Amino acid sequence: CGIVACTGTPGAGRLLLDALSRLEYRGYDSAGMAVSVTGDPRSAVLRTTFRVDDLQRRLDRWSPGLSATAGVAHTRWATHGEVSVDNAHPHTDCSGRVAVVHNGVIDNVLELRAELTGAGHTLTSQTDSELVAHLIERCLTQTSLRAAVEAAVQCLRGAWALAVLDSASGELVVTCHGSPLVVAESEQGVFAASDLAAIAPWVDRYRIVEDGDVLQLAPGLPWWREGVLVEPPSSVASTLRGT
Ligand code: GLU
Repeated sequence: CGIVACTGTPGAGRLLLDALSRLEYRGYDSAGMAVSVTGDPRSAVLRTTFRVDDLQRRLDRWSPGLSATAGVAHTRWATHGEVSVDNAHPHTDCSGRVAVVHNGVIDNVLELRAELTGAGHTLTSQTDSELVAHLIERCLTQTSLRAAVEAAVQCLRGAWALAVLDSASGELVVTCHGSPLVVAESEQGVFAASDLAAIAPWVDRYRIVEDGDVLQLAPGLPWWREGVLVEPPSSVASTLRGT
């Protein structure tokens, strides 16, 4: 139901939580985040079926979230699978390296589930979203994260906004198809969000991600200067900033 991603942000866990709390008005049944930690190729994941407040309380004792500089976060509105911690996002691949948050619905779930389990992937949730992490894993050994995400979305039918973290490299890639996503860069870092409200206090301008765009988020990358840059309506910006 809501996605946030950030990189180049010291204390990424706190920033992600702050952003998630601004998405609470949309409603959700579970929430979570994943961050990459230097020296550990596996994503550190925190998930709950309670409120974002619950993550907040646990974050204070969760050192990966406090030290990380990149991560992804999610509020879920379940479409595939009950409300449970196993079904909450982020979802990871078999190795725990790739962490995915997803908004939307994948239509060809049965086909993909059969294909992936047939190829030896162990799935740990009932969601459509977990399949995306495994599709990316399938390509990632031969290519870059961006190319692996590009190849994975070729297999999908349905609607998606995706933020993908590779904890082995700390890279972050976002893409969408039929589900909204914006990206922005500011002094606080580089951000992606399904709703501008999540990141508005930190950015002056943002770019709308077009269907089919696959963007790597990193400070100073040229995509930021391409495409249409939009300034938030001043009424929205000032309300969100409390000015
Ligand atoms: N279809 C996914 C799920 O059931 C994502 C739902 C959402 O957009 O929150 O987990």
